[in-house]
Amino acid sequence: MNLSDLDLQGQRALIRVDFNVPLNEAREVTDDTRIRAALPTIQYVLAQGGSAVLMSHLGRPKGRDEKFSLKHVLPRIENLLGQKVKFASDCVGDSALDVTHPMKPGEVTLLENLRFHAEEKAGDEFFAGQLAENGDVYINDAFGTAHRSHASTATIANFFPEKKAFGKLLAREIEALEKVLACPEKPLTAVIGGAKVSSKLGIIEHLIGLVDCLIVGGGMAYTFVQAQGGSIGTSLVESEMHAQALSILEKARSSKTELLLPTDTLCGDTFAPDANTQVSPIHAITEGWMGLDIGPETTARFVKAVLRSKTVLWNGPMGVFEMAVFAKGTNAVAASMAKATADCGAFTLIGGGDSVAAINKAGLAEQVSYVSTGGGAMLECLEGKVLPGIAAIRN
Ligand code: AMP
Repeated sequence: MNLSDLDLQGQRALIRVDFNVPLNEAREVTDDTRIRAALPTIQYVLAQGGSAVLMSHLGRPKGRDEKFSLKHVLPRIENLLGQKVKFASDCVGDSALDVTHPMKPGEVTLLENLRFHAEEKAGDEFFAGQLAENGDVYINDAFGTAHRSHASTATIANFFPEKKAFGKLLAREIEALEKVLACPEKPLTAVIGGAKVSSKLGIIEHLIGLVDCLIVGGGMAYTFVQAQGGSIGTSLVESEMHAQALSILEKARSSKTELLLPTDTLCGDTFAPDANTQVSPIHAITEGWMGLDIGPETTARFVKAVLRSKTVLWNGPMGVFEMAVFAKGTNAVAASMAKATADCGAFTLIGGGDSVAAINKAGLAEQVSYVSTGGGAMLECLEGKVLPGIAAIRN
């Protein structure tokens, strides 16, 4: 299962990478983080005397669509790798095999977008077999799609029963997640924020009983407050989730998990960066005002809980952090993650799009233990699900 267990000498390593990068109107890469993240595995394969066949999806094309061609990404890959990369105009069939079969050690080929074929998302067995002809060994290094049961992430592993492994990036993701979910140093705290209870319900339910302290902030907190009879003004709410919110509170009461909810909130009179603001108790928000960040008392409680932990997981902002005036709570949590790492020797993991954006914005990404690359995949792990991309390598 480990890359180091594979004999790569003279072998073509078929690597599932995540090159689903943002492109601008001129089809230039605007953020190459995901390409950089894949380099260690590619470079390792080449250093071991192998060649690398890279396959990925890009965007959501419906059939072949030049707009989503991976050839737009090719120059940046060549630039970062510092060598020429061949391009196959399709990922299966002769257009691919004519390029990948004659490959020599040290060479790299990029296959065209996997999602030009509907069979990719369908996890089609025949298509996976065609893909498999492009390599002698299979490596999955795409955590971002590990929760998908697609041909290139799951089905294909059947064609390499003895010759498959996790890439370095995926292995690090799994290791970081296991440090939190499987064998955490205690106390273990999870900070969950974001807009909606409905999208984090599975995570919250899975974490109750598992973590020592569960902190719930962000827009979803107001549903809990309203369900208990509080006045939340015009704050974001999912009234149809009252029953679930109350059941979570009940479940937490009868478990070993301490559930922390906000007690005060920073409100705005409108959803705008220049809104008038006031702090109020979270259960008594003035009519016409909306809670857009956690208040100072809550921030202090949450920070204190993070700083007494040995393992901390954070997913989701505490408020509308995109507006500076409502970013204080989120920034304070970001800073406490860095402080817990440095001062308390805690293992701190940040997972999911907006918390990653927040820690980057705060300039603290280097000061936490691990920043996960996979949004949806991370969320499914936190819900306790087994990811098909991981299971396919392990089974
Ligand atoms: P999610 O994708 O569920 O993690 O939610 C992230 C989004 O939640 C961000 O865009 C935040 O602006 C938003 N958010 C966080 N707190 C609030 C709040 N109190 N009211 C409205 N939106 C919020």
